[in-house]
Amino acid sequence: MSRDDGLPPLRDVVQAHDLAAKKSLGQNFLFDLNLTGRIARACGPLDDVTVVEVGPGPGGLTRALLMEGAKKVIAVERDERCLAALAEIERAYPDRLKIVAGDALETNWRELVADVQGPVRLCANLPYNIGTVLLVNWLESDPWPPWYERMVLMFQREVAERIVASPAERADYGRLGVLTGWRTKARILFDVPPSAFTPPPKVTSSIVELTPRSTPLACSGKILTAVTASAFNQRRKMLRQSLKGLSVNGKTIDALSLLKAAGIAETKRAEEVDVEGFVALARLAEEMTA
Ligand code: SAM
Repeated sequence: MSRDDGLPPLRDVVQAHDLAAKKSLGQNFLFDLNLTGRIARACGPLDDVTVVEVGPGPGGLTRALLMEGAKKVIAVERDERCLAALAEIERAYPDRLKIVAGDALETNWRELVADVQGPVRLCANLPYNIGTVLLVNWLESDPWPPWYERMVLMFQREVAERIVASPAERADYGRLGVLTGWRTKARILFDVPPSAFTPPPKVTSSIVELTPRSTPLACSGKILTAVTASAFNQRRKMLRQSLKGLSVNGKTIDALSLLKAAGIAETKRAEEVDVEGFVALARLAEEMTA
């Protein structure tokens, strides 16, 4: 696929529209269309696919997604300074780009894609300061299966490692890994060095692919969150201690009975329990408080 879409180079776009990066908006831009092309391809093949992008900025990834053949890109951008630059891309790809000026944290995603025919995927170089909040929101989507069929997202490497962690990587495994494993299969696809961004961040980034599980592990997300919060808040303690005082549906749970019912040794620590174990604890906690 040609890397030339006839639009000006991104550095020129940023200069022409005076888009000096703002730290408060997590702005680290990608100017290399080969790299954005690689990210877009990780989300592909894109024929017939509508891609939701958060934070298009000057439009590097947006252009790559369109060049890779996305049927449509719906891009939510909070920085009004970027809108004129994005409108130029919109004109170059008639009817294939919809820019939504707004805050991703306030966006109703199902409403956003309500009229879309065919599959929807998420692809974004996320602003680091809100990346985890957005991911948790997408993972907690209800009903399930969610409105997206795949997510390809950029995070700081350290966050990416927590997202894909299992009990085998104890130091990284925690609430985020459980929530991710509960609803998706996640893996790190590749790293992106700081030098790829303008301005360069201090840390390496990673592209993570998350595919919703076809057979969801059934339990209440709210209760799973309560159980993992309690267990990992004191991650060095044994579960018989860390789950003491766990409250579900307004009722305090007896930690020892819960662990026994789930067949999990009371001497285990949170980081030794896999996702299925936490799902079992959440399901039993719900039954015990129903
Ligand atoms: N996609 C561009 C790229 O790869 O070069 C920019 C990525 S930059 C890391 C993050 C983008 O998210 C910025 O354009 C920023 O303005 C935007 N952003 C930050 N907070 C946002 C929010 N709450 N809602 C929507 N966009 C936001």
